[in-house]
Amino acid sequence: MSAEALFPRLDPEAFRSQAHQLADWMADYLRDLGHYRVQPTVTPGEIRGRIPPGPPEQGEAFERIMEDFERIIVPGLTHWGHPGFFGYFPANTSPASILAEMLTAALGAQCMSWNTSPAATELEQAMMEWLRRMLGLPEGFTGVIQDTASTATLVALITARDQAVRRSSGRAVDALTVYTSEEANSSVPKGARLAGIRPDHIRLIPTDAAAAMSVPALEAAIAADRVAGLVPCGVVSTVGTTGSTAIDPVRAIAEVCRREDLWLHVDAAFAGSAAILPEMRWILDGAEHADSLVFNPHKWLLVNFDCSAYFVRDPAALLRSFSASAEILKAAYDDAAVNFRDWGIQLGRRFRALKLWFVIRTYGVEGLRAMLREHIRLGKLFADWVDGEPGFERIGAAPLATVCFRLVPAGESELAGDLDRLNRDLLERLNATGKIFLTGTRLKGRYVLRLALGHLTTTEAHVREAWDLIRREASEL
Ligand code: PLP
Repeated sequence: MSAEALFPRLDPEAFRSQAHQLADWMADYLRDLGHYRVQPTVTPGEIRGRIPPGPPEQGEAFERIMEDFERIIVPGLTHWGHPGFFGYFPANTSPASILAEMLTAALGAQCMSWNTSPAATELEQAMMEWLRRMLGLPEGFTGVIQDTASTATLVALITARDQAVRRSSGRAVDALTVYTSEEANSSVPKGARLAGIRPDHIRLIPTDAAAAMSVPALEAAIAADRVAGLVPCGVVSTVGTTGSTAIDPVRAIAEVCRREDLWLHVDAAFAGSAAILPEMRWILDGAEHADSLVFNPHKWLLVNFDCSAYFVRDPAALLRSFSASAEILKAAYDDAAVNFRDWGIQLGRRFRALKLWFVIRTYGVEGLRAMLREHIRLGKLFADWVDGEPGFERIGAAPLATVCFRLVPAGESELAGDLDRLNRDLLERLNATGKIFLTGTRLKGRYVLRLALGHLTTTEAHVREAWDLIRREASEL
């Protein structure tokens, strides 16, 4: 075939037909999601073994690629949107978000500067303002969309580091210390390391009985570091820990940070969405005094991954750490416009604001609140069932649709190892059914199972089925 014949050309009519087929596939998938196994049964290397080791020399037909997608890829997927997916944390999505994501791909806009896509920058500004109002953060807060909470926390820690170095008249990064709780997400100590903080200067502050950061322990750690001649630099508090959705006392931590002149970053990655409910706004109490805050609409606000909302009180501090220009980037409106490339790590940026706009407009704030309320109601219902069931024990307060529990059969050895093993076995049996998927974690030295709600498709009937299955499998252990 001639090079001319092989050259990829845009064929709008072929695209139209394929896009229609794809829309049908996606609609069927969303309709039938509950019939799939939540987790596949494949073993490592199995999917890879079905993919040719090298790329095709000649282009292939869309139909063949879709056939292979269904034959090779789908059987190897864990279906995060499945109504029986209760693992890790929700990473929910919705039709409005999926449609906007398709548009984003079609537009292919680069959102590094105002000039590279003015509408993308201005929609991002507007969406961050909508989210600020939805969360009830003060007017001084302004924001930018980051890919993940991990990145936002890294950005916060780099900004805190630079500010501390500037203020400590030339003390080296080597002297800086960072504080977070022992229940903080793994991305926090990782972010501190990436920001150049020595691993032995990252303090994992003990938590209280509710798995929230102990403020006296935080104060003691800061004081000890000062006595040792170190330079405390910042605190990362968590609103909704990954393990059990515990909520650090942000107001009290903010007071310590103000007194000690430390940067305060609030990681509300999962739980932050719940603050759009007036009755749950208390979870962000004190966050108005933070220097920065992140929450993930891609976890619990019907926006598909990735979309993290990062708010700062002083964008100038952010710009001091992240501004970088080059001749090719200079544009006529640089003085008058925001260039989001200077608000984070990446130069190239996706047009993520579009899906937020579609989602918030499609469901309205009241629609989103209704979804959150339902998930929280289902979480409470499940917690009540656990509380009422002999042989089960619930761990933690479960205010946010994630319920930690474990099997404690009467007469079973109280030795922690035995119960841990029993609960690991229960988890394995549950996940092997393919009907539901849960994850386990360790809380206060005990191995617990977690049921994390938050998907669009999950109803009370699904939670009831999950509970029946848990009791059935437990009775057979
Ligand atoms: N922080 C908390 C409290 C989380 O629960 C998670 C994810 O579970 C993260 C941070 C990391 O989020 P991301 O995947 O957006 O980096």
